[in-house]
Order: sequence, then structure tokens, then C-alpha cells
Amino acid sequence: MRKPKLRELREALLALVRGPYTTKYPFEPHVPPEGFRGKPQYDSEGCIGCKACAEVCPALAIKVADETGGAKPIRRLTVHYDKCIFCGQCELNCTTQEGIKLTREFELAGFDRSKFREPVELDLVICQVCGCVVGARKHLLWVARRLGPKAYANPTLIVTAEGSISLAEGATPVKQESLSRNDMMRVVCPDCRRTIVLREIWGE
Ligand code: SF4
Ligand code: SF4
Repeated sequence: MRKPKLRELREALLALVRGPYTTKYPFEPHVPPEGFRGKPQYDSEGCIGCKACAEVCPALAIKVADETGGAKPIRRLTVHYDKCIFCGQCELNCTTQEGIKLTREFELAGFDRSKFREPVELDLVICQVCGCVVGARKHLLWVARRLGPKAYANPTLIVTAEGSISLAEGATPVKQESLSRNDMMRVVCPDCRRTIVLREIWGE
């Protein structure tokens, strides 16, 4: 029989005094250590709906759905944590650093995969000309706050940030062919703004 090494002997003696390293889970609750990467969870306060987390997710576990058909257009981001590999990239690359966190929750097994969802919903801002999605309202407000006075270079941002979005939303939609300088202070997507600016400069 091989003689035990001194280190192993020391570990065995220490274990007699300190007790075992293993825990009694599942007979006793287990609290994972700080930094443990468990179930990802959105924070509806911290999330601005920018989609960066969905773009960096290597497992394509975050789905983005823009619902523009109803009275209130919304963006829904959903983490499918049955597909999540708990890499933490979403948390690491979150624009606000407060929108999504990996919790210490690890008991995630179940029989119904349709329940393995963690959603967050945000209001969308829609272009008043072509009806496409400009972005999540909170995202536009966040960008405007970060830009400060420079946000005045983009009327969509400033109309949103000044709280006059409700007036803008109530404005009568206009067709692309009749866009003119008067429509500068509308909430419009980058394509329609480009059309307005080109007509202002070249008149077509
Ligand atoms: S704020 Fe963070 S959590 Fe929310 S959509 Fe952007 S990256 Fe994702
Ligand atoms: S932890 Fe990784 S795999 Fe899971 S949702 Fe975040 S980025 Fe995707």
C-alpha cells in the first residue's frame, strides 16, 4: 500500500477538527457564495429596453418582441432560462449596469419549459410617419439625459425628454411624401428625419 502524502494526512486531521467541506444540501438550505451565477432576472426600474443584453447573449436565450399593433406599443424582453448557460455576459454588458442581474437562485429544475421565462416590458416610441419602432421610451430618455444639452441636436430625443411626448403622440400622423420643415419637431425614425433634412436642404 502506498504511504499517504503529508499534505493528505494534514487535510484528514484538519477535517476531523473543522468538520466536512461539503454541505448537507438538499436536507438543509444552501446559500451560494457571493458572485454565484444563477437565474438571470430583469429589474424593471434599471432596464431601459436597449436590447444590448439580447445581442451579446451567446446562447440566444434572450428574445425581443416589439408589439406595435395594440393601443399601447410595447417591447418585451424575455430571458428563457432553460436555454441560459449562466455566462453572465448580459449582466456584464448591460448598458445601465442595473437592468439584468444574475441572482443566486439555482433550484431551477421543472417539468414545464414554458414556465422558464423571465420577462420585462417597456413602452415603445413609434415613428409618426412610417410607423416603425424608434426605440423604447426609457432608452430615449436615458440617451437624452446622458447627452445633456447635446440632445438638442436630435428633436426626437428632445421632444421625448421634455415630456412633450404625449403631445407628439397625439399629433396627426403625416405621410412621407408630404414631409416638410414643419415636421422637424416630430417624433420620427432616423430614415424619416433624413428625408425631412434632405427636403429642407435640396427641396426634394
Ligand atoms: S438596459 Fe440592460 S437589461 Fe435592459 S435591455 Fe439594455 S442591456 Fe438589457
Ligand atoms: S447569462 Fe449568458 S446565456 Fe444566460 S441570458 Fe445572460 S448572456 Fe444569455
